[in-house]
Amino acid sequence: MTPGEKKKQIVIVGGGSAGIMVANRLRKKIRPENAAITLIEKSTKHYYQPGFLTLLFDIDKEEDLSRDVKDLLISRITLVTDEARKINLQGTVTTTRSGEIPFDYVIIATGAKLVLDEPEGLKDGLKNGKNVFSFYTLEHALKLREALKTFEGGAIVSCICEMPVKCPAAPVAFILLAEAEMRRRGIRDKCRFLLTTPTSSVPPSIEPYAGHVERLLHDRGIEVKIEFNPSKINSKKGFCEDFLGERIGFDLLSIIPPHAGEEIVQNSEGLADPVGWVTCNKNTLRHRDFDNIYAVGDAGNFPSGKTASAARKQAAILARRIKSHIAGGEPTATYDGNTVCPILTDFGTLFFAEFDYGRSISTIKDSRFNWFLHVSLLRRLYWNFILKGRFFS
Ligand SMILES: Cc1cc2nc3c(=O)[nH]c(=O)nc-3n(C[C@H](O)[C@H](O)[C@H](O)COP(=O)(O)OP(=O)(O)OC[C@H]3O[C@@H](n4cnc5c(N)ncnc54)[C@H](O)[C@@H]3O)c2cc1C
Repeated sequence: MTPGEKKKQIVIVGGGSAGIMVANRLRKKIRPENAAITLIEKSTKHYYQPGFLTLLFDIDKEEDLSRDVKDLLISRITLVTDEARKINLQGTVTTTRSGEIPFDYVIIATGAKLVLDEPEGLKDGLKNGKNVFSFYTLEHALKLREALKTFEGGAIVSCICEMPVKCPAAPVAFILLAEAEMRRRGIRDKCRFLLTTPTSSVPPSIEPYAGHVERLLHDRGIEVKIEFNPSKINSKKGFCEDFLGERIGFDLLSIIPPHAGEEIVQNSEGLADPVGWVTCNKNTLRHRDFDNIYAVGDAGNFPSGKTASAARKQAAILARRIKSHIAGGEPTATYDGNTVCPILTDFGTLFFAEFDYGRSISTIKDSRFNWFLHVSLLRRLYWNFILKGRFFS
């Protein structure tokens, strides 16, 4: 900044994993006299979503999975607990109760919403809460946990409606752990397990991980149906039908609903594609038409996985880019698509699939150590270090 220049206003919309990570990293990189940082988040709580899967099998407890957003932000970040309704290209964010908040730079971190209007019958099935569940929200994960506890046999189906979804490895891990759970309870022979995916290979659909997962599923007697696009769910009769009329029966369905960008993004003219993902350059994270608008995390149309691990890498890049803007230079930091997907294969074993836009990076090590890292350690690191940008960016 040159002397006499006005302090810049950086506004982050959405204070989930990505929004909190970027706010804290920005605050550490940019002096308060050069820029004010405001974070608009509609919820007072932030949830550690990877725990929604482990919660199902009593590996994690509900009370360990949320924290107050205000306690996750370092000092000199203004938190506005309100819903953002529209991003105006003239340089303001319209909120429900806090008026118009001006910005020089806006960072969209509103994540992904679950679309429950499709397939037909999904909403009713979830509402009945008898045999249709989803663990992608805490509320539904708690219901599924109870259903698994009382399950006495039959077909358990893990179904991904369409891509992209958050952490596409989670529904794969769910079916592997459900099989392990029924084995542990001695009722494996009374059960059938099936994974359906709209993709042409098992997620994460990148080699060598997809091939490894396919072999694991096969060896454990878990059936796989690829290119299955569900159009209808009948919870009363217990079947799921795809657009070609093929039916799959279930006694317990764990479904990953379609995802889309949040309403605010769809309401803000020129910012998003038809599904509501912010249209950005996949490397610079900058909006393809507006130089002062960025996206981070699940809200962007980045072809990397929608994961917190990707959000962490993006947040670090973004903080460097905004710092360069504020210093009056042209930012050069770029994101290469790096994502790490943990795949929980059994109680006590896990492997990481790490890849970027162009290639797979990690070798497959299905180990107890990886389980320890992800299941026992990561949540603590997340709350205390990763969100706050300590030692990790
Ligand atoms: C079951 C499950 C398992 C997962 N496992 C893993 C894993 O093992 N590893 C991994 O890396 N990732 C995992 N993920 C994915 C990870 O949780 C997400 O990718 C990550 O949370 C994305 O961060 P985000 O900030 O983009 O979105 P979110 O964390 O969802 O945050 C978005 C925030 O925006 C707020 N918001 C939305 N609209 C508005 C508005 N209009 N005004 C104000 N605030 C708004 C929301 O309230 C929310 O707090 C998993 C996800 C799920 C569901």
